[in-house]
Amino acid sequence: MEYEAVIGLETHVQLKTCTKMWCGCANEYGADANTNVCPVCLGLPGVLPVPNAEALRLTALTGFLLNCDVPGYAKWDRKNYFYPDNPKNYQLTQLDFPSTITGFVEFELGEELESVRINRAHLEEDVGKSFHFADYSGVDFNRAGVPLLEIVTEPDITSGDMAYEYLNALKSILEYGGVSDCDMEKGQVRCDVNISVRPKGQQELGEKIEIKNMNSFSGVRRAAEYEIARQIEVLEEGGQLVQETRRWDDDAGITDSMRTKEDAHDYRYFPDPDLMPHRPSEEWLATIREEVVELPLARKRRLMEQYELPTGDADVFVGDAALGNYFEEAAKGLNNPKQAANWVINNLQAKLVETETSVVNLKFPAVAIGELIGLVEGGQISSKIAQEVFAEMFASGKSPATIVEEKGLSQVSDSGELEAFCREAIEANPGPADDFRSGKEAALNFLKGQVMKASRGKANPQMVGELLAKILNG
Ligand code: ADP
Ligand code: MG
Ligand code: ZN
Repeated sequence: MEYEAVIGLETHVQLKTCTKMWCGCANEYGADANTNVCPVCLGLPGVLPVPNAEALRLTALTGFLLNCDVPGYAKWDRKNYFYPDNPKNYQLTQLDFPSTITGFVEFELGEELESVRINRAHLEEDVGKSFHFADYSGVDFNRAGVPLLEIVTEPDITSGDMAYEYLNALKSILEYGGVSDCDMEKGQVRCDVNISVRPKGQQELGEKIEIKNMNSFSGVRRAAEYEIARQIEVLEEGGQLVQETRRWDDDAGITDSMRTKEDAHDYRYFPDPDLMPHRPSEEWLATIREEVVELPLARKRRLMEQYELPTGDADVFVGDAALGNYFEEAAKGLNNPKQAANWVINNLQAKLVETETSVVNLKFPAVAIGELIGLVEGGQISSKIAQEVFAEMFASGKSPATIVEEKGLSQVSDSGELEAFCREAIEANPGPADDFRSGKEAALNFLKGQVMKASRGKANPQMVGELLAKILNG
């Protein structure tokens, strides 16, 4: 029998706020354990939470970025459970009235355009982190109370690859929107994968199994692929799948059972009595709507169309938004923007990597790239000299024209001067000169190379070729 996989992702993303969700403690990575804590985030008796306005703003913004509705009413619920890293013994979340609902994310999967529906993106708070030492354990509560957005998809994903590309798209959308840095190594993105399989064509969904503990997007892909194969094998052998939570073991490349899945009623959800529901006003939402930026995929398509760039170039500029902005600046008013793309990708990017700097720290403005291209096109400098000029621009920030002037790099297009170079080259190399005269056209390139060398790259190569041929034939 043929089977198909059904996958839904629940992705937790840490919001890029200065402070935590309900108190003024810093939302900061890497501080000493239990230094960013206070009575509120430690859940001491008698404290009251105060919502973080910036977290609410970023949540609404995310809603718009993910094509969601942002309803006029959202409320807070307590999810109750006991665990050492959970100081209040409940987690504040949004059960039945989340801040954003029903959207979609579009992305490319190979050549195909895919879309995954978003069920909801709701706000919750993070818990602490347990550490296990040789003979004791400890908990760091610095992360407790940090705002998290849980982004839940509909079960629209059908393969590990698709899950992987969805996650990459989500990450770049959230980075573009300034919502989260999505740094997985800092634990800013965590993802639970829900998987079931069913005979191809069957409407009813199979038994859902949730997988936790992936620490990279490629880990999610591998875990999904493993789990799909495992579930199919169980069914093919006549076995039964039960709803459960499994743990991904990245080293072993397998999942194993953690627990059978608890139901919502196990958590005894109830509305938080300390917090008012959130009723975003139309005006507030309108100002946030204005902040919605061009999404990565839309940008890619625009770059390809507006500047006639190939996919690969557009991908580079979408992947590195600052570099893309720089390219767009440089391409302004150019007839052939592809040339600017070549400079930015082949030369500038390489230099940035080599010197470990970023495009925002550049000493020269983007228009200088256009000027440099103009000098080559106008025949003032050769493309080889342009490389030298570029290196100097990068080092000193001087304009291309100034550099050419100061270093005397102007291309020699004076035929008198060039003729002298050509005659010298012919005299010094009688062999190749004879070869050319007797019909070996390739010998001309050797002579041309000698002239370019003698002129330190400044001779106009086209004129040199013409002059050499004229002298030798004449
Ligand atoms: P729970 O209440 O157990 O968290 P939800 O209905 O909230 O379950 O769904 C959680 C995630 O699991 C969602 O992303 C959803 O799309 C996905 N999902 C639900 N049912 C299935 C299924 N049968 N197979 C795969 N994924 C599923
Ligand atoms: Mg859930
Ligand atoms: Zn605090």
